[in-house]
Amino acid sequence: SARKSRPEWDGVGRLADGHRVKLLANVGSPADAHAAIAAGAEGIGLFRTEFCYLSAEEEPTEAAQREAYAAVLAPFAGRPVVVRTLDAGSDKPLAFLPMGAEPNPALGVRGLRIAFDRPELLDRQLSAITAAAADTGVELSVMAPMVATAAEAAWFAARARAAGIGRVGVMIEIPAAALCAEEILAEVDFVSLGTNDLAQYVFAADRQLGAVASLNDPHQKALLRLVGMVAAAGVEVGKPVGVCGEAAADPSLAPVLVGAGVTSLSMNAVALAGVGAALREVDLEACRALAP
Ligand code: PEP
Ligand code: MG
Repeated sequence: SARKSRPEWDGVGRLADGHRVKLLANVGSPADAHAAIAAGAEGIGLFRTEFCYLSAEEEPTEAAQREAYAAVLAPFAGRPVVVRTLDAGSDKPLAFLPMGAEPNPALGVRGLRIAFDRPELLDRQLSAITAAAADTGVELSVMAPMVATAAEAAWFAARARAAGIGRVGVMIEIPAAALCAEEILAEVDFVSLGTNDLAQYVFAADRQLGAVASLNDPHQKALLRLVGMVAAAGVEVGKPVGVCGEAAADPSLAPVLVGAGVTSLSMNAVALAGVGAALREVDLEACRALAP
């Protein structure tokens, strides 16, 4: 009988016709980073730095941050890494940053919005990230979470560049940002689609609420059309558009994303082999025909 064999993947992301797609890892700890290297990740597409802050009673010092980030980045010496600045607030409150009561925390002061009130918090993190990258020899990019407008992207890019960071991007996870991807791409070097939050905000369906989980399905046409708009904007200006939400880890969605023009997929280490193998079975033309 035709029992399907285990997916084979040689560690290089490409389609059957040779078209390259970078297959990257989502990490949040040194253990994640080591697992990602073992699984064949070409680099890090999303380093969630929250772990360094969430349990802290006071803001971690720059030196402590530098050490914590370096421990995660070290296995990726010589490779590309995307470090995301602090994505706290909403479901991830910080003990040392008490915030006012928010009736709708997912729509409140979270992600980059915290930095507008406290830019020095962001500056200290950017400085620690830059130092950790130099310590470990990684090829550094930095990106901000929860960006809504091109003006916010420009604000972040200016601060990151002032910190000496050469490659700056933002996440596209708010529908307004997806709709203005062209204007946002004019301010930064790349964008990365956070499909978990993008789905939550497109469908007005709390990502933590089981009762509306069927709306938070990345196969939904509305979400894929928005992804397609962002990817098309990237193709137009020749800047990379990645996906780092759960959609990237789904072997049945990966060809759809690549067909839309997405240039990299970032996922948990365990998903790399399956996605890598699925991409090997299709060419770019077949991927493009999957557009929703
Ligand atoms: C996302 O929103 O898709 C994402 C990658 O970020 P997080 O899951 O950390 O919010
Ligand atoms: Mg998110």
